[in-house]
Amino acid sequence: MSYLEPGWIEVNLTQLHKNFQLICQDKPDSLALLAVVKDNAYGHGACVIAQVALEHGVRMLAVATVPEALELREHDIHAPILVFGERPIEQFDDCLHYDLTIFINTAAQAATYAKRAAALHKTPNAHIEIDTGLSRYGIRWTEAAEVANICAVQGLYVEGIMSHFAMSDELDKSYALTQLERFHTVLEALQQRGIDIPIKHVCNSGGFLDLPQAHFDMVRIGILPLGVFPSKVCRRIAGIAPIMSVKTRIACLRDLVAGDKVGYGMHYTAPGPRRIAILPFGYGTGYPRVRNRGHVLIHGQPAPILGGNAMDAMMVDVSAIPQAQPGDEVVLMGTMGSESLSVHQLAAWKGSVSYDIFVNWNSNLPRVYR
Ligand SMILES: *Cc1c(COP(=O)(O)O)cnc(C)c1O
Repeated sequence: MSYLEPGWIEVNLTQLHKNFQLICQDKPDSLALLAVVKDNAYGHGACVIAQVALEHGVRMLAVATVPEALELREHDIHAPILVFGERPIEQFDDCLHYDLTIFINTAAQAATYAKRAAALHKTPNAHIEIDTGLSRYGIRWTEAAEVANICAVQGLYVEGIMSHFAMSDELDKSYALTQLERFHTVLEALQQRGIDIPIKHVCNSGGFLDLPQAHFDMVRIGILPLGVFPSKVCRRIAGIAPIMSVKTRIACLRDLVAGDKVGYGMHYTAPGPRRIAILPFGYGTGYPRVRNRGHVLIHGQPAPILGGNAMDAMMVDVSAIPQAQPGDEVVLMGTMGSESLSVHQLAAWKGSVSYDIFVNWNSNLPRVYR
């Protein structure tokens, strides 16, 4: 690997295939998969992850914005793409032109969409989102009549109905079960009106793992195929492993004497002679802005972070790694020898969640696929 400044991201496609294989073996045959590749597949590269997902038979892809969907279409991905969230009317024509599947959550919106579609000689698919307690997008679970009104609009096909959990991967499933019950009341109200929407889906990765009674026809998995379990306590599928590693190289070394300060704010004082390595990577490139907390891996050994990370530099203690030299590879996240640094570990140092760590790696970092 040549010198890529300030660093690079490696994505292990062999492991990605393995993760999808294991997920497919684990799930009931009749359960369809939707691969969530929003936010550049959590920083892993949306087109690459989508293509692998499709090789494993996923039924749909999902993104968060229309530009993300267009990027997939421009890369010759013709699979159904569900665009999460709420679409403004100005985006309707693009959605129709590129055969995107969007959420329609009022009868008025359905009528407008159907009219635009008729003008373009299209009969688009749409999904309906039921807000069962996340208070984000969708129709409140108490409004089944409005759902029926949407289904009655001619000129579009309501293919799916879904909801989204506020908490599915922790031990306490009580709120998830409340949400599931609310979703069922909507389905029953529709059934009484003779309406059955074919694709029902409520589970994310946590729900897929831990709430089989909520699987319905399809599950929407984002983080699990990337080899990361959504929480410490959710069910494990043996063999699933992370596919992303983030790396840099040592820029230079410095020797400190007792009393020397390290970094902005002078948050570290050397208690005695220390050797530190300077890395050309900081919070501007997506490493958490930590101070005197966390470590990186050099020659397979942990090198603790000293002082506060800068925007484009960080200092680590290599006193215990005498063989460290400028140009040596440094693992910021991932595995080196028998040591590894998980995304959950970095999230704990940052006081955040794994999803936040993933999407923060600078999008300009080269992605290297193996
Ligand atoms: C992001 C997202 C998912 C995927 O969640 P994971 O925890 O990554 O599996 C599923 N559904 C919706 C609506 C989402 O926004």
